[in-house]
Amino acid sequence: MNEPNALTFTALKLSVPLLRAVVEQGYDQPTPIQAAAIPPILAGRDVWASAQTGSGKTAAFALPVLQRLSANRRAPGRIVRALILVPTRELAVQIGESVRRYGRFLPEAIKMLVVYGGVSINPQMMALGGGADILVATPGRLLDLVDQNAVSLGSVGLVVLDEADRLLALGFADELARIIAWLPAKRQTVLCSATFPPEVETLAKNHLHDPVRVAVATEPATAPDIGQRAIEVDPPRRTQLLRHLIQTHEWTRVLVFVATKYATEHVAEKLRRAGLQATALHGELSQGARTAALVDFKASRVSVLVATDLAARGLDIVELPVVVNFDLPRSAADYTHRIGRTGRAGERGVAVNFISAETHAHFRLIEKRNRLALPREQIAGFEPEQVEPPVAPATGGVKGRRKSKKDRYREALARGEPDATA
Ligand code: AMP
Repeated sequence: MNEPNALTFTALKLSVPLLRAVVEQGYDQPTPIQAAAIPPILAGRDVWASAQTGSGKTAAFALPVLQRLSANRRAPGRIVRALILVPTRELAVQIGESVRRYGRFLPEAIKMLVVYGGVSINPQMMALGGGADILVATPGRLLDLVDQNAVSLGSVGLVVLDEADRLLALGFADELARIIAWLPAKRQTVLCSATFPPEVETLAKNHLHDPVRVAVATEPATAPDIGQRAIEVDPPRRTQLLRHLIQTHEWTRVLVFVATKYATEHVAEKLRRAGLQATALHGELSQGARTAALVDFKASRVSVLVATDLAARGLDIVELPVVVNFDLPRSAADYTHRIGRTGRAGERGVAVNFISAETHAHFRLIEKRNRLALPREQIAGFEPEQVEPPVAPATGGVKGRRKSKKDRYREALARGEPDATA
């Protein structure tokens, strides 16, 4: 658990309806990010927060945003009063759900809409007809809506750029610039980011006005209790080993990470053939299929969700006991995000890594960066036969060939450079 924190939500001067919602959520006390960010946001200041998913960051901005909006009514027209920009559809949906829960006791209902691409734009245009108090949006779809005159951003008094690093890493820089250009210069801006690469610093410097810096230790809302394991196995035997682990540990809900969209389908299919209820989740599925996969997983109709890194960030599936890195993540930061899907909200979590002769060196780098040293395990009946190559592949590409991105990334990682994105 966290260090005892003297602050209560009441001391943060939240209104009674919001306090009621917080109590209903079972939050005893504010997390460090909430304690630090809620007062300046309530006071109308710009805030620049370093906050990871799991730190309670959604409530840190959603509660004060709701309180500020509830002080006034919305003017008529297609206006939006507060805009929350997020990198992915899944995060948009999740934040929408949180905002709804936190705002449900407010005496005047707050109109909140969630818009994202990959689904028909027409219902979103219709819904935006009367404007919205809060619009949670992914950048591309928001611009489509602006281009079609479905919404006006000229009255946005408050904007939250959530997971700004991720927004930029996903190539939304141009979209962000266009959206910001539509916003009034006089507004309140909150920027949340887990990491602060130079592009995020620039974004913050250019678009925040005299911000309050909120950098608390990246303590999760509830200290994660994640047992991490590194199991050696030859790649062709991973599916069988996974099945074996699921059966022996009686895991009922497992999130399995693989490297590619193709692998999600392929591994899910193999698991289905082995009698498990498995489904794939990746970015090329239709929005309907993605939502269905998540709903089925949350409702326990599916016990194994095989996903790409799309699912590593932002998803909060409470009671997710196990995450398996079937393929290792590319970066140490991705590792943290992936395993952060488990051990949430006080649950005990397990993160299992499958390590092969080829990926030993890469996993050592991930461990080094995350200050880990996991014992290597072998499971009876699945002992690997392949051996690690004598020279670690981390030291460069094939002679005469350009170094691959992966090789450059590994070298950067070995030099201790933060977050060289592969
Ligand atoms: P977030 O970082 O916003 O994704 O939140 C991570 C998890 O922490 C969510 O399941 C929240 O419901 C939970 N949470 C947020 N604030 C608190 C709090 N003050 N106490 C306990 N849990 C919280």
